[in-house]
Amino acid sequence: MTAKLIDGKEIAAAVRAEAGRLGREFTERTGVTPGLVVVIVGEDAASQVYVRSKHRACEELGFFSEVHELPATTTQEELEAEIDRLNADPRVHGILVQLPLPKHLNEHAILLRIRPEKDVDGFHPVNVGNLSIGIPSPVPCTPAGIRQLLIHENIETAGKLAVVIGRSNIVGKPVAQLLMRKGRGGDATVTVCHSRSRNLPEIVRQADIVVAAIGQPQFVQGDWIKPGATVIDVGVNRIADASKKSGTRLVGDVDFDAAAAHAGAITPVPGGVGPMTIAMLMRNTVDCARLQVEGPESGAFAD
Ligand code: NDP
Repeated sequence: MTAKLIDGKEIAAAVRAEAGRLGREFTERTGVTPGLVVVIVGEDAASQVYVRSKHRACEELGFFSEVHELPATTTQEELEAEIDRLNADPRVHGILVQLPLPKHLNEHAILLRIRPEKDVDGFHPVNVGNLSIGIPSPVPCTPAGIRQLLIHENIETAGKLAVVIGRSNIVGKPVAQLLMRKGRGGDATVTVCHSRSRNLPEIVRQADIVVAAIGQPQFVQGDWIKPGATVIDVGVNRIADASKKSGTRLVGDVDFDAAAAHAGAITPVPGGVGPMTIAMLMRNTVDCARLQVEGPESGAFAD
């Protein structure tokens, strides 16, 4: 392997520490503690693990934090009433509805119900629009974390060709917006690819920065990577591995060993993008609190 390994755990720890510092300074100035409520509906085991980690991260930083566990039988009206209560609660600056919701609930209507200033996940159309036109507001956590990885590693993005593979609302599109926008971690020339793109290997071969957010194990091949390029692997896929006690292991969307032989820097899976998501959730919680209590002059979401 010749590529530098981008250590997401270390960078996430720095982002969390910074969120903690900003939170303490905010409390000293205003007397208010940043607060996050995570709402989970039903008993999806993976979602419960994520929710516990988010709660723990808040507690470590001294934030107000609650997990509201609702039964799988919760109706649309009941969930909307819960969101309305949280929208009105001054202790709560961030509301996160853990996805996916049970099938009978209208996810889009629920996300629309959250006040945009409390939409700590950055999924509300107002925040999607703000990102697109450059108004400081919550940005989805995984894409914001990818930007921080590039910034912390001093990877130049200005004028570079970035190829994003994947066009989902939660990863691909916001990553492309962040890479394209003016300023730190941005100013790149961005190409977005998806399942209907033609000549994908040819397009990726031109990239200085490759962001793979596809959901297909080890899909991006080593010989697609331009020598010295930066590779950000967002994928989390579980594959069979008889050598492991569990019989499985996690891999990304990139064939790591082959890509690392060509790349200048690369994120591992696990331990790359993954840890950044909760770290950015902590940062978004503080910035939502600053925005609500101190207004846009606070500098929240503006760096
Ligand atoms: P989605 O399934 O919503 O989107 C996948 C995207 O990849 C789509 O745009 C799809 O194209 C595109 N795609 C699928 N197959 C191909 C292909 N063969 N060639 C080119 N493009 C293709 O996934 P997400 O964006 O939600 O997640 C992507 C990956 O990132 C997953 O592995 C997920 O687990 C992981 N993830 C990790 C997070 C973390 O914290 N580390 C957080 C969120 C996601 P089309 O639009 O045409 O269907």
